[in-house]
Amino acid sequence: LPRLFSGMQPSADSLHAGNYIGALQQWAALQDTHDALYCVVDMHAITVPQDPATLRETTRRTAAQYIAGGIDPAKSILFIQSQVPAHAELAWVLNTLTGFGEASRMTQFKDKAAKQGADSASVGLFTYPILMAADILLYNTQLVPVGDDQKQHVELTRDLANRFNSRFGPTFAVPEPYILKETARIYDLQNPESKMSKSAASDSGIVWMLDEPSKTAKKIRSAVTDTGREIRFDRGEKAGVSNLLTILSAFTGTSIPRLEEQYEGKGYGDLKKDVAEAVVEVFTPVRARTLELLDDPAELDRVLAHNADRAAEIANATLATVYDRIGFVRKV
Ligand code: ATP
Ligand code: MG
Repeated sequence: LPRLFSGMQPSADSLHAGNYIGALQQWAALQDTHDALYCVVDMHAITVPQDPATLRETTRRTAAQYIAGGIDPAKSILFIQSQVPAHAELAWVLNTLTGFGEASRMTQFKDKAAKQGADSASVGLFTYPILMAADILLYNTQLVPVGDDQKQHVELTRDLANRFNSRFGPTFAVPEPYILKETARIYDLQNPESKMSKSAASDSGIVWMLDEPSKTAKKIRSAVTDTGREIRFDRGEKAGVSNLLTILSAFTGTSIPRLEEQYEGKGYGDLKKDVAEAVVEVFTPVRARTLELLDDPAELDRVLAHNADRAAEIANATLATVYDRIGFVRKV
């Protein structure tokens, strides 16, 4: 089966509807046809300041949500990045093969650094794409499911793989980006021009997977729409309504044109009510299962540790080959 690697940052208490539709739900579907690794990338999270106790908590919560959202840790390898030291070790080697100018061209860094103020951005944030390259290359990954915001990083990963291979001999598989459905992009309910994001300034437009159903329903009822009455998909004229249609379509499996037919002559209130119902129906069991998993952190930690061992077995073999090829003396 083709090998696949993807990850999310433990950057909030809960994942949101965008993470679910744009990533988690699709990851779960890919498990049967791929040899998949799904990682909670805590080492990426610390590229911006994190509170230690919070990070520990959000890391476990993110892992629990992967499982509750359908990732089977007996099938896919579901693990915490920092529990497999080879990620940091390969990243160091790849750092030495990356040009300073090359790394400077990464647009995600420019965006995130601008948010923080250029002088307070860390060197870790700057080299983040190189750690991501290590994540991918350690497992001879063929496919990397990413949103289009991450395409440039996969491109860098490919360049580094090719560079290493031509300098030191064929070692790495050269991965392809597997661009997830663009229709699966979910926008902020209060600000439907920008994507729903864990780190948004205000959470009033974010549909959290772990929110109580009543809170979710209320947020959806207060979603921004427009002064018209017609329910149709038109991102330019009707960003809010289009977003609600996208969410409803993703959560019910009904196509958007079909929904447009169904809502002919109906009002925004009807649409919102149905969106809230559909989201609550899907998220209620996911939430319950997440809380159940978090009730037994020792068991969750055990599953994660076992999966980290499975990941390390693959990663350490790759790293050993890399160390040999570059001329490090193997410890006898
Ligand atoms: P942050 O604000 O901390 O960057 P995020 O919400 O963007 O958080 P990530 O951890 O960066 O989440 O991304 C996890 C996965 O969710 C990625 O595969 C990303 O493409 C996907 N994703 C994030 N936001 C959305 C969205 N609004 N719609 C669809 N997919 C999304
Ligand atoms: Mg993001």
